Amino acid sequence: MGLADKLEEANKNKKPSNWCPYQYMYDNLTPENQKALDDAWAKGLSANVVLSALRSEGIKSSNEAIRAHRNGVCKCPKK
Ligand SMILES: [Zn+2]
Repeated sequence: MGLADKLEEANKNKKPSNWCPYQYMYDNLTPENQKALDDAWAKGLSANVVLSALRSEGIKSSNEAIRAHRNGVCKCPKK
């Protein structure tokens, strides 16, 4: 595959301009897990604690995604 094909492929796969990895992860959680996550923030749990709990449940997220969303510097409209 040549460079032009690779770039064409990358263009097709690019995320919408308001794509937020945290919101994407959140939207894919079960309603129970969404509530648990909301509660965790409300209780003031740290991102590290939340992240390790998410990972132990097999849910992928990252400190960067969580930090960006919670600091309001991500691109989604729901921060
Ligand atoms: Zn966000």
